[in-house]
Amino acid sequence: MRALCLVKEKQLEVLDLTPPPPPGAGEVQVRIRAVALNHLDVWGYRGMAFAKRKLPLAVGAEASGEIAAVGPGVTRFKVGQLVVMSGGLTCGTCPACRAGRDNLCEAVSGIMGFHVDGFARELLNMPERLVIPVPDGVSARDAACAPIAFGTPQHMLFDNAKLQPGETILIHAGASGTSTAAIKMAKAIGCTVITTVGDDAKIAGVKTLGADHVINYRKDRFEGEVRKLTKKVGVDVVFDHVGADTFSGSLLVLKPGGRYVTCGATSGPSATINLMQLFQRQYRIIGSFACTLKNIAESLEKMAQGMTPVIDTEVPLSDVARALQRMEDRQVFGKIIVHF
Ligand SMILES: [Zn+2]
Repeated sequence: MRALCLVKEKQLEVLDLTPPPPPGAGEVQVRIRAVALNHLDVWGYRGMAFAKRKLPLAVGAEASGEIAAVGPGVTRFKVGQLVVMSGGLTCGTCPACRAGRDNLCEAVSGIMGFHVDGFARELLNMPERLVIPVPDGVSARDAACAPIAFGTPQHMLFDNAKLQPGETILIHAGASGTSTAAIKMAKAIGCTVITTVGDDAKIAGVKTLGADHVINYRKDRFEGEVRKLTKKVGVDVVFDHVGADTFSGSLLVLKPGGRYVTCGATSGPSATINLMQLFQRQYRIIGSFACTLKNIAESLEKMAQGMTPVIDTEVPLSDVARALQRMEDRQVFGKIIVHF
């Protein structure tokens, strides 16, 4: 069977792998339909030295597929049903898992597409517990974006930053997959959204998503622009995954008591902080990683109600090189989907 594999850093190839055995007890076999690409598929997590990966590795951290077979004891799924999967191989029994905070699992055995083989292969077996049904009316293409592109901002905005209707939020890197979803989610509850882009060509796109104000951070310092836009009041929440380049400025534009939530550090992992500023202005700095099974179901529900992910490009597996070139050239607006 075909699989999209990382053979060395930054080099992906379609390889022929041995198909899985029939699903065991409590497992389902999934025939992959669509994989949504993420930066980690191509570059890994830069600077995360603790990550041990054995190459070649099948990539793909989020995907949708159809149930191809069910193992003994499986009752929640039937053959042909459209599903998505959580790539975090959590234990299901520790206190965090039992409390529904499974992305804090104490005994996670790996993240698919990162530590262990991911979803970009034709067939795979999954524990039933990590599989989520896709509601009627949601396409395989859109559903593929639920576990990360939608699940991550769902967790950041609502579980972590506790974003409230009517608040003002700064969303960095508005054209990225996660941020496009965050813009839609924040606008859907009536927030004012300020976002940043690095290219004037992307301004119209983020406005279409509902962004109220767009700043080209290569032309104007976002700190000054946000202060002007908010009449020096600042924002309630900053949503970030850029990191080193945006951290200090983000704290400067927060209101007293504001929340900074981050799920990434694409511009670098290190930043400094003024502790006086932190405690005097009573900021909350919140790290967020991936999402819970519940967040994936919530994301699919939003899609069923009409909130669709922004899709940049769809390619068949045979044409994946074209999609990767777009990522390399930083032309992407939204998600890249590979159809299997
Ligand atoms: Zn656990």
